[in-house]
Amino acid sequence: MSTASTIVAEARASAAAESLCWICKTNKADSGEHKTKRSDLRAVLGSPSQEQPFFYQDLHRLNSPVKSLDAKILKSPKFICAYCNGTRTQPHDRAWEYMSDWLRARQPPLKIGGFVRGDRIFRHFTRREMTKVHLFFTKLFGCMICESVATGHELPIDIGLFSKAIMTGRPHPEVYLRLGKCDGTIGRTNLHCWTTEQGSVLAGWLYELDTIAVSVLYAHNGAWRDRYYAWHPLSGSNRFTVADFRYMKMARDAERKAAQ
Ligand SMILES: [Zn+2]
Repeated sequence: MSTASTIVAEARASAAAESLCWICKTNKADSGEHKTKRSDLRAVLGSPSQEQPFFYQDLHRLNSPVKSLDAKILKSPKFICAYCNGTRTQPHDRAWEYMSDWLRARQPPLKIGGFVRGDRIFRHFTRREMTKVHLFFTKLFGCMICESVATGHELPIDIGLFSKAIMTGRPHPEVYLRLGKCDGTIGRTNLHCWTTEQGSVLAGWLYELDTIAVSVLYAHNGAWRDRYYAWHPLSGSNRFTVADFRYMKMARDAERKAAQ
């Protein structure tokens, strides 16, 4: 769905984005990051065409047909510079590319409640490679925060720590990942942010890639009851518990139940 308000909001986001790169804070922000990694899209879709588009789910548009991997809808407004998007974060992109391929090729496929161990994915330098995966999602998260702010949604989240993590190559202390099974959806959910009764800020969004999904979570001061289910590079474990992220299926089931 492409509504006038969506287009206005996106134009405003693009205009606001014409400033400095949020990562290095030095170069002009002149590069738009792919919301879903291009190699991921290619892996699950091949090459879409005019005749055979695919459907992308985004915060403003549900199931938009897309006819090329370079389509504008697939890219964030320009919040980072070409150097940070390319050279600086390339090792992080590569680590996720490898992990993503591994997870989708895994036999048997992921099972809800089952485990995936990082040292099976990255047999060497496990912690180092998994930290890069964490930093890949930290970059996407930072771009989503910029997008929210640019469209008038101020968030109580300090983007400075996201920048510091990427600039130093050290984990963001408050960003966690969960891995799960997806239901064929390709895209990303909106960024949800809320404050608990105790005043802690939590935020999260979901990266959906056909059969797998990654939930990316922010918990200020680690103040979050369920964080033990999520993975962090400094948690001392490289094990993920496979969660159920089949939200489309769940919604359909709920609808069916309500209709009975
Ligand atoms: Zn930069």
